[in-house]
Amino acid sequence: MKTVLITGSTSGLGLGIAIEFAKAGYNIIFNGLEKEGPEIAADISSKYKVGTLYSAANMLKPEEIIEMVNQGITKFGGIDVLINNAGIQFVAPIEDFPTEKWNDIIAINMSSAFHASKAVWHSMKAKKSGRIINISSVHGLVASEYKSAYVTAKHGIIGLTKVLALEGAPFGITSNSICPGYVKTPLVEKQIKDQAKSHNIPEADVINKVLLVKQPIKDFVSIEALGALALFLASDNAAMITGSAIPMDGGWSAA
Ligand code: NAD
Repeated sequence: MKTVLITGSTSGLGLGIAIEFAKAGYNIIFNGLEKEGPEIAADISSKYKVGTLYSAANMLKPEEIIEMVNQGITKFGGIDVLINNAGIQFVAPIEDFPTEKWNDIIAINMSSAFHASKAVWHSMKAKKSGRIINISSVHGLVASEYKSAYVTAKHGIIGLTKVLALEGAPFGITSNSICPGYVKTPLVEKQIKDQAKSHNIPEADVINKVLLVKQPIKDFVSIEALGALALFLASDNAAMITGSAIPMDGGWSAA
């Protein structure tokens, strides 16, 4: 039985991806700040007959990330797939962008992926097998205004992905980024409210005239489709895909 660790998996996209991996028979190491974390892990375990572990590790704290990885390796004998997914957003013009929000976004959306990848590396290298999947964003490929920290972190994680691909190549470790357009999750629901304030327009206009304005296919990306892509990247058939940044963005980054 294979094991996947997904950061930020007690909500939104991470939880959706966890469910797809549970359906495929993976043990799941859950992580996230939602207080329902332990219940979510227990529910998925009984529903899909897989092993689960919940860690409340804070992605702002490298020592907690290392402890989470070590707990997972101890419980399941290794981590086959690491999905760096935890992320937060903050939207403001540069001159008003709070420095502490910048620091948090860089730490949670980018540096936590470095700490988790570093922590699993030794065990993946020893097994000569491993998959690292980083949830970047279309904002890892192109920019939008008012998102200085997020766009920087998401571009940065694509750089990390490429370095890990090179360093992992001799050891059967692949590393790829997934770059979604908008997926309707709590993070996006909050952005709709924030953008409505920044642009001073109704929330319905944020969806049509701001969020999806750059996306040729005017629809949200589904969590199930992202889960299927992540599962594919974890499979043997994806052994030759490494160092890539794969958009699932309704054509946004093609423009
Ligand atoms: P979400 O808010 O629903 O989930 C984020 C998860 O990260 C939660 O479980 C939360 O507890 C966890 N998290 C946040 N800060 C943490 C911390 N300090 N320590 C541990 N966990 C922490 O958001 P989502 O939309 O599911 O986003 C998941 C990822 O997908 C993010 O990296 C986001 O940037 C990326 N993404 C989302 C979209 C979208 O449209 N929703 C698009 C592209 C990329």
